[in-house]
Amino acid sequence: MKNIGSCPNCHKDFVVDSSLSAQKCPYCGRSFKTDEIPLYKDSVKEVKTDGNNFNKYDNSDYTKPVKIDNVPPETKKPSHGGIITFIVIILIIISSCFIIKSIFGGLALNLTERNLTSSDYSKSETQGLTSYKLTIVPKISIKSIEVSATVFNSSNQGLYSDSQSKTDLTKNFSYVFDFDFGFEVALTAYSIEYTITGVVNLI
Ligand SMILES: [Zn+2]
Repeated sequence: MKNIGSCPNCHKDFVVDSSLSAQKCPYCGRSFKTDEIPLYKDSVKEVKTDGNNFNKYDNSDYTKPVKIDNVPPETKKPSHGGIITFIVIILIIISSCFIIKSIFGGLALNLTERNLTSSDYSKSETQGLTSYKLTIVPKISIKSIEVSATVFNSSNQGLYSDSQSKTDLTKNFSYVFDFDFGFEVALTAYSIEYTITGVVNLI
């Protein structure tokens, strides 16, 4: 029976014929008793089941058998410095051009009021690096208005949230809702979502 063994002297692998009492290493030429040579147990199966490999191992010019538990050499990892710089630059670019989503709604309390609608005012947005400003100009008198803003990262996790409300807004005046979320939030900010709710008097 033949197995792959490792030479106790030079540690190179070679075919060990266990029917013989001694083996000579084909690399360093030293002789050992067969039971002194460590065998690769896992390779026994391969040698027994694969006739081609068996013959190949018998060839005098065979080089090195593949150990089954051989770990492939690790591929060279790229350096991290350049990648981190690249990501930071991308984050700064992204944070200055948020996706802005808005939700409209409200809750009228009784028959003399109704919910604010987007046609009751005009709005303009100012996107800074670390802040978001929403300017509301009422087209009619507005009893109350509340703006809630949340800044999300790209995993949709809230990084910053704030609500601001104003009451008794006069037609054609400007009302600024200023959400200053700071530089740290801006670095990973991906989107800002705001909700405008309010109530308008019917009489
Ligand atoms: Zn040897």
